[in-house]
Amino acid sequence: MAFYLYNTLSREKDEFISAKPGKVGLYTCGPTVYNYAHIGNLRTYIFEDVLKKSLEYVGYKVKHVMNVTDVGHLQSDSDEGEDKMAIGASREKKTVWEIAKFYEDAFFEDCKKLNIKRPTVVCRATEHIDDMISFIKDLEEKGYTYEANGNVYFEIDKFKDYTKLANLSIDELEAGSRIEIDPNKKNPLDFVLWFTNSKFANQIMQWDSPWGRGFPGWHLECSTMSIKYLGENIDIHCGGIDHIPVHHTNEIAQSEASLGHKWVNYWVHGEFLVLDGGKMSKSSGDFLTVSRLEKEGFSPLDYRYFCLQSRYRKQLVFSFESLDDAKKGYKALKKKISSIIGEVNDNLPVDNSKLETYKQKFIEHISDDLNIANAFTVLNEVIKDNQLNNKEKANLIEEFDKVLSLDLMIMEKEAVNVNEELVNQLIVQRNEARKAKDYSRADEIRNELLAMNIEILDTKEGTTWRAK
Ligand code: AMP
Ligand code: ZN
Repeated sequence: MAFYLYNTLSREKDEFISAKPGKVGLYTCGPTVYNYAHIGNLRTYIFEDVLKKSLEYVGYKVKHVMNVTDVGHLQSDSDEGEDKMAIGASREKKTVWEIAKFYEDAFFEDCKKLNIKRPTVVCRATEHIDDMISFIKDLEEKGYTYEANGNVYFEIDKFKDYTKLANLSIDELEAGSRIEIDPNKKNPLDFVLWFTNSKFANQIMQWDSPWGRGFPGWHLECSTMSIKYLGENIDIHCGGIDHIPVHHTNEIAQSEASLGHKWVNYWVHGEFLVLDGGKMSKSSGDFLTVSRLEKEGFSPLDYRYFCLQSRYRKQLVFSFESLDDAKKGYKALKKKISSIIGEVNDNLPVDNSKLETYKQKFIEHISDDLNIANAFTVLNEVIKDNQLNNKEKANLIEEFDKVLSLDLMIMEKEAVNVNEELVNQLIVQRNEARKAKDYSRADEIRNELLAMNIEILDTKEGTTWRAK
């Protein structure tokens, strides 16, 4: 079955054809680790996770590479503004290296809570400075750069396809970028590849280079590291839509200037999460994080469910009321599923042809540019289908959860009808049997409990139990 993705380059839903049969090279722009990720950032990472898992579900082997920006990302996407890492360091009285490590760990903790799978390769900008220097040298040899006032710039007028991703004229791009005029630039849209002379006098992260001691421009890291780990022809490159006019446009310019051919086949962008009252911005300091949601009584998976309810290409408005609706919907779904799983009997027959029909329906929807809303409809049809027994239903739910990653097979505690008194009695009896070295009786009781979906755990403190 064909897999379709909306490609920003063509502005169409294109059939996805990978460069190497059966394999996908996927690059996603990663976090700038100077603060916690906000839930808008995380919406983008959730969409990318669903994309990756959908491709895997339909049979591709996906190599997923993501950068960690731990140097050189200035506050605005152009080369102006403050240095985000330095802001974090002075705010928290830590070194920039400590800040980067702390927030990188925090980012992956958040991802784990949201069931976002770790990329195959996570690469830090600071560990690829030599590669970036080689990249600039190559661009320099090919005539795409100039030096001015200590910095090395990419000259966009030398690259003929500069506007192809944003699909805007140079004038429109200029108008949209609202950049401070840097008198050293030949064209206001030129961008810095290497700074030796930034306005931050006490730049701590600095390296030697042929152009002097300094640090790389932000856009460079994604081109350098994606080509290093995925090769010269990349299947898919993702990020939020804010990256289209500057970051990704600049990535294409420098990569294709260096390679001399088309670099990425499919550009897939996630729309923004916006607040009821407007834009969410990390640099403004006031933003929502996963821990804030948890403090308000929501689980990270309530938020994942909330994001999956709307198409990744549509703007999503966040409010606590709508998150609360999602939480209720998610809970109701889990309850229904828990009562199915609670009644699965291993002896029930499984009709594979029925399962296959549903799987194909599910695949049809995820392959339609990640139509997850329709994929949920299939899930609900499965839950309601009287022609399916509970074992078949559980089998399909487990399959679909490979993409949805909502822990659907973990039972809701209150949905399991546990007779606690009986469980405790059986545990006492089992302990007595063990004391009397009657291990077969002890095993018998353990199995009886398992049949009730109760798992027992023997710990130093004694025997405890939990609903499976
Ligand atoms: P950053 O750490 O700022 O580089 O952003 C990380 C990712 O989050 C990028 O792919 C951005 O495009 C994306 N992003 C930033 N703000 C939002 C938002 N409000 N909603 C969705 N994605 C966002
Ligand atoms: Zn990037």
